[in-house]
Amino acid sequence: MLQAKLQMLEAIRSDWRYVRSVTGKEAPDARVMAALDEVPREEFVPSHLRGAAYENRALPIEDGQTISQPFIVALMTDLLVPEPDDVILEIGTGSGYQAAILSRLVKKVYSIEIVADLADRVVRRFERLGYGNIEVRSSDGYEGWPEHAPYDGIIVTAAAPHVPPPLIAQLKIRARLVIPVGAFSMGQELLMLEKDDSGEIVTRDVLGVAFVPLTGGYGKKTEE
Ligand code: SAH
Repeated sequence: MLQAKLQMLEAIRSDWRYVRSVTGKEAPDARVMAALDEVPREEFVPSHLRGAAYENRALPIEDGQTISQPFIVALMTDLLVPEPDDVILEIGTGSGYQAAILSRLVKKVYSIEIVADLADRVVRRFERLGYGNIEVRSSDGYEGWPEHAPYDGIIVTAAAPHVPPPLIAQLKIRARLVIPVGAFSMGQELLMLEKDDSGEIVTRDVLGVAFVPLTGGYGKKTEE
């Protein structure tokens, strides 16, 4: 396992070449890499896939969902610039892996999963593994989690057809929202949005990606 994990970290550093120019950074943040080293990814994949837990690729989990590729987890985490006092919102808990990585880097993580079964499973997983600073609930993440807003950063790990306006409203000034946007068949772009001092949103295109789609009520809102 140890060797496999070292290879995963090496693969992430190697893949970073694709985002060197867009991030302006030679390598991912050392704290982000330390979190990837610390969190046992094998605890977040189905038991029959444990042997593949440290391969640098997405893997299937329950309910037809996926645990994201480690490089993408590293990239999205790095783009959020997590600070120890931050409160972060995640949409799309899935296996809980991304939330676990964030929990090593910030004060508190709120994570929303629309599939109640997955949310229940992850709550038990976090209890078993001792992740005490993550709160999970089952609801439609399109609406965010207004009770704890505004956030120091928001990360969406399912592809949305557009950036949900409620999430922008729940961002602090100078905070970032990292989100894949686009239809699966048409290709998706990982976007990084930042709320500037005057509350305006500045958007940057980071990388072409492939995420499972955001489900829930957003379709209705597109038609409104
Ligand atoms: N971050 C996860 C990967 C998530 S896969 C990990 O680290 O493992 C995307 C997840 O988003 C799926 O579990 C899916 O059920 C969930 N999802 C899809 N639409 C959603 C919505 N509207 N609100 C909340 N979660 C949603």
